[in-house]
Amino acid sequence: MSEAATSETHDGGCLCGAVRFRAVGAPDWVAHCHCASCRRATGAALATWVGYPDTAVTITSGALETYPSSPGVERGFCAACGTPISYRASRFPGEIHLTIGSLDDAGALDPTLHVWEAERLPWLDLADTLPRHPASSRPERG
Ligand SMILES: [Zn+2]
Ligand SMILES: [Zn+2]
Repeated sequence: MSEAATSETHDGGCLCGAVRFRAVGAPDWVAHCHCASCRRATGAALATWVGYPDTAVTITSGALETYPSSPGVERGFCAACGTPISYRASRFPGEIHLTIGSLDDAGALDPTLHVWEAERLPWLDLADTLPRHPASSRPERG
């Protein structure tokens, strides 16, 4: 890990401003997720997630409300405005995934892969050359 990567910081928050967070360090990955759950949870055609170690992310203002969207999965959002902010799963221990749209500088992070390509909406045509995984990019665990 380079010194530049460790000094990298990304702030973000929800639409109403009640919840703010800070992520320190370079993200592990930035993934476009085409799964039906993320689509419904965000109300968008796809969800782009920024993966961090749990320890890299701090809520600096307000608090996340959470709900279990499937067994072992907890999605975090602002209780006041509903902005989807975080995703944690028991099969990805020690990780937190943040919605890229909640970052102040979303344009500064380049996506690195697509996951759940098999559930991509048929009219969504993204002309990038990133790796595309039909389901999760990682083996299922427990
Ligand atoms: Zn809010
Ligand atoms: Zn998803």
